[in-house]
Amino acid sequence: MMDFDVIIVGGGIAGSITARDSANGGLKTLLVEREKTPREKACSGIQFPYFERIIGEKIPRERLCNVELNKVKMYYPDGKSFGAGFQMINFMRKPFDDWLNQIAIRDGAEFRDQCIFTGFETKGEAIEVTLSNKGITETLTTNYLIDASGLNPAVRKLMRPEDFASISKGATINYYIDGDGDLDRNTLYQFWNLDWNDAMFAWAYMKTLDDGKDYWVVGTGCNTGRVLDRQKLLYDFFKKEFNFNGEIVKREGYSHSIDLSSDEKVWLGMDNILMVGDAAGLIDASRGVGMDAAALSGRLVAQALVKGGSVMKEYSRLMKPLALQTMRNQSREIGVHKNNEDMQKYLEKSMMSQGLDMMVQATLNKFRPLHKMVMLPP
Ligand SMILES: Cc1cc2nc3c(=O)[nH]c(=O)nc-3n(C[C@H](O)[C@H](O)[C@H](O)COP(=O)(O)OP(=O)(O)OC[C@H]3O[C@@H](n4cnc5c(N)ncnc54)[C@H](O)[C@@H]3O)c2cc1C
Repeated sequence: MMDFDVIIVGGGIAGSITARDSANGGLKTLLVEREKTPREKACSGIQFPYFERIIGEKIPRERLCNVELNKVKMYYPDGKSFGAGFQMINFMRKPFDDWLNQIAIRDGAEFRDQCIFTGFETKGEAIEVTLSNKGITETLTTNYLIDASGLNPAVRKLMRPEDFASISKGATINYYIDGDGDLDRNTLYQFWNLDWNDAMFAWAYMKTLDDGKDYWVVGTGCNTGRVLDRQKLLYDFFKKEFNFNGEIVKREGYSHSIDLSSDEKVWLGMDNILMVGDAAGLIDASRGVGMDAAALSGRLVAQALVKGGSVMKEYSRLMKPLALQTMRNQSREIGVHKNNEDMQKYLEKSMMSQGLDMMVQATLNKFRPLHKMVMLPP
């Protein structure tokens, strides 16, 4: 007898959804989260309306930010801008992930926070998982181990250290600012400029912090160079362009060492140890998002677990369209542009067709089975 059918490492999006669905399918499920919950997570917390279909339930209003985002405005490197109406879901990860943890518990998963995965050993069919639970070390047996521990994935790092560099391979930074300028509160601003961000676009939008008040968030990221230097360039532009005045009340940073240029960035695991979400390499900088893919992989791995039999084979089959889309997108992230002029030409040329494709795929996604959904932007 094993202690659990499934042990899931990481109580973020992929882990909580996997736990909820596994428990719902009758599997004895343990979800462990390193941090004390509710925990913060550096993330823009913006998704498309199809996210609720992927999750499989409606997000309660009180878990969302006060401000609804329904427009996008893109700034090109030459300063020209382009705007369009577009509905989005806007939330902070702290209340949102807390809700996901609660729905996993509601459906029968056992949840432990401040519980850190530290190692595992396979013994025939069984996996012995070592956890440090509020400082006390414990070893538990399970049939399946799921790595849902994000972009610094604890299990994958032990299994495939070659996927990781010894230095940071990417970093992001956000300033939360109490201030105002000539900005529209319902707009997500995207700033496309390789000097400000060489991984994707830089951003600004409005978010609600724990005090219930709304703040502008200005942030960027990079794969090379110093993120603070890029953030300075961006923030100087932002203040000037929008006559913005304000006081920075919170700074949030994030870095990871997964090698985004590795051929096998998308890796779904081996035998009875499976990867989901960012741990599986599903973050997609060409789309600028990853929570949809994380949630979808959680749903699909749970489907495979509940079905039983050859779980790895079934999970790989279900994940094929998402894995292919992610790998294709990763090969055309903005690092492929030689310079800002090159990127501007590409953006101008592809804007119209991408907008149309987005509308078509969003409509088709309403009817597709989960595993055939196309992530947006396609
Ligand atoms: C700055 C930034 C902005 C982003 N903005 C967006 C956005 O607007 N929209 C979007 O869709 N995506 C966005 N993303 C991507 C998104 O955050 C990820 O794709 C998503 O969080 C992946 O979910 P996950 O469940 O795989 O991992 P995570 O959400 O990272 O969850 C992993 C969990 O595992 C826990 N953990 C780690 N190690 C251990 C361990 N050893 N033991 C136990 N627990 C452990 C962590 O504490 C964490 O809670 C953004 C990412 C960044 C960095």
